[in-house]
Amino acid sequence: MGLFFVSARMGIIFIEPNFGSDAMIARISALSICVALVLTSLPVTAQDGRSRSILVLDQSQSTGVFFLQIFSGLRAGIDADTSAHTTIFSESLDLSRFDGDAYHESLRRHFSEKYRDKDIGAIVTMGSGALKLVLRWRDELWPGIPIVFGMVDEADHARLKLPNDLTGSILKTRLADSIGVARAVVPDLETVVFVGDHWDRQNVFSSWGLEVPKATAGLNVIDLVGATMAEVRKRVEALPARSAIIYSAMYSDGEGIYLSPAKAFELVAEKANRPIIVAAEPLVALGSIGGPVIVPRLIGADAAKRALRILHGEPASSIPVAISHAAKPIFNWLQMERWGVSESNLPSGSEIRFREPSMWAKYRWQTLSVAAVLLIQAGLISILLHERHRRANAERESRNRLTELAHAHRQATAGELSSTIAHELNQPLGAILTNTETAELILNSPSPNLSEVKEILADIRRDDIRASEVIHRMRSFLRRAPFEDKAIDLNDTVRNVFEFLAIQASARNVALYFEPSGEPIQVRGDQVQLQQVIMNLVVNSMDAMAAIPKGRAVIGRTEMNGGSSAVVSILDSGPGIPTEKLNEVFDPFFTTKKQGMGIGLSISRTIVQAHRGRIWAENQREGGAVFRLSLPLAIS
Ligand code: ADP
Repeated sequence: MGLFFVSARMGIIFIEPNFGSDAMIARISALSICVALVLTSLPVTAQDGRSRSILVLDQSQSTGVFFLQIFSGLRAGIDADTSAHTTIFSESLDLSRFDGDAYHESLRRHFSEKYRDKDIGAIVTMGSGALKLVLRWRDELWPGIPIVFGMVDEADHARLKLPNDLTGSILKTRLADSIGVARAVVPDLETVVFVGDHWDRQNVFSSWGLEVPKATAGLNVIDLVGATMAEVRKRVEALPARSAIIYSAMYSDGEGIYLSPAKAFELVAEKANRPIIVAAEPLVALGSIGGPVIVPRLIGADAAKRALRILHGEPASSIPVAISHAAKPIFNWLQMERWGVSESNLPSGSEIRFREPSMWAKYRWQTLSVAAVLLIQAGLISILLHERHRRANAERESRNRLTELAHAHRQATAGELSSTIAHELNQPLGAILTNTETAELILNSPSPNLSEVKEILADIRRDDIRASEVIHRMRSFLRRAPFEDKAIDLNDTVRNVFEFLAIQASARNVALYFEPSGEPIQVRGDQVQLQQVIMNLVVNSMDAMAAIPKGRAVIGRTEMNGGSSAVVSILDSGPGIPTEKLNEVFDPFFTTKKQGMGIGLSISRTIVQAHRGRIWAENQREGGAVFRLSLPLAIS
């Protein structure tokens, strides 16, 4: 009976039973178990039994952008599996530039040598040319190693009759889809222009030729497939209006110079006067309008997934071959703008790239910040305006109240002054009566002296005018008018009050003196209200001196105070004000008088403040109180 054990690396090791003795058999058995244990714990040996190396064989040249993107998708997919490190070997067969049995043979020898000691777990092929060669070499170079294929179209897949230990995805590129896009891009399409290498020699367009009759029904066809680059460039710059170009891929200029499909595309696009529909994603960015394109990263990612499953121990035959999802409608927004293509015409699910952000999207934060600043500013302005409005209303309201209050106080003052006013009126009226009686007597005499009567009449007129002046002054003092704001002469204002109170003063045995400033003083405000203030101060002074037997005097003075204000002072020879009461006297209802109301000074202060002025009380060093009020000059 033969002995065997399992090596993860080599599969089954078989040892011939030619040792003869039981002891020997026992020793070998023990050794075998040890070797098996050591081998199963080696790091190169994955749990699943497959080497963590894959070999990628691409039929194109490795520097082409398309393969680079396949490879990067594959690399990302493999690296995403962090359970163990996987080594990737990559070979570019460059079959579009090198072909023939001799070349294939040299490749075989090269790989045989190069990978002799490399333990490959899975082979990934890109393109049906690469797949065919690997199938031919596999038994010799990589016996039993599973294959993952990509970039194989339906027709090639059917032709190749693949063994079942292969897995991969089949690319479906249909000419009809590209022509469908051409119709969406050019709604009244009449002509399609085919540009590229011969389709049957290309990797994924081998079935396009068969599709042509049906896919192009009703269209004119300009077939530049296989034409030289020079010819193509000449033709595409003068294409008819309702046409579109369908570009597969070109690998040379047809005159001995090899080109990458991307470079060849740029040469065509440079001249083309019509939109170009492409089949490979990297060309979308290079100036084509887009189309149903193959996305190379997705091809690489799909191959990586399948290879990893194999490395994890799944047999390739249990991973079903599937139709690839690597083809997608992708479009270039800039070219759509150029050719006036509306997004709504494009196949549903189309991806639009390079869309220029709208002004809103571009400057969203700047716009929002400016709008926020403007909003805040507008808010502040409206709050300030509202406040200003409220303040103006409040000021107007308080002035109205003040006017009412001042008027009421003037009426009260007039009541107090009524006896002296009556006296003031009685004087001229009495004189008029006396003069009238005298005139009558003269006229009744036998020889009346008419010139004397004339003089008497003149006296009567003068007394009448005096009486009407008293009434006029009283009426204007008691007038109830809204607050007036006009330039007024301060000297006149004070003088009027002193004149008005002259009779009252003499009746109370008070001497009144007014000392006006040398120059005229102009202030702004309401003359009646300012007169009320002065009158209140003078009357208060006369009241304060009522108890002193003699030497009662009130002096009024006006003077400039610097260049911006004037001061009115009312001094008396009374007892003065206790120092602690100097401020209190302005409080409403503060009075020391029996009949006093205690609102005169409080109203005076309010009036002065409404004139943007100040009023205060002091005591004179030599005795007596002095009240001062300062007012801004009209010009300042
Ligand atoms: P009223 O005259 O009704 O008392 P005022 O507000 O005009 O109300 O005056 C308040 C108080 O201020 C007076 O009662 C008096 O005590 C005091 N006062 C005002 N003027 C003088 C003054 N020239 N000398 C002394 N005290 C004064």
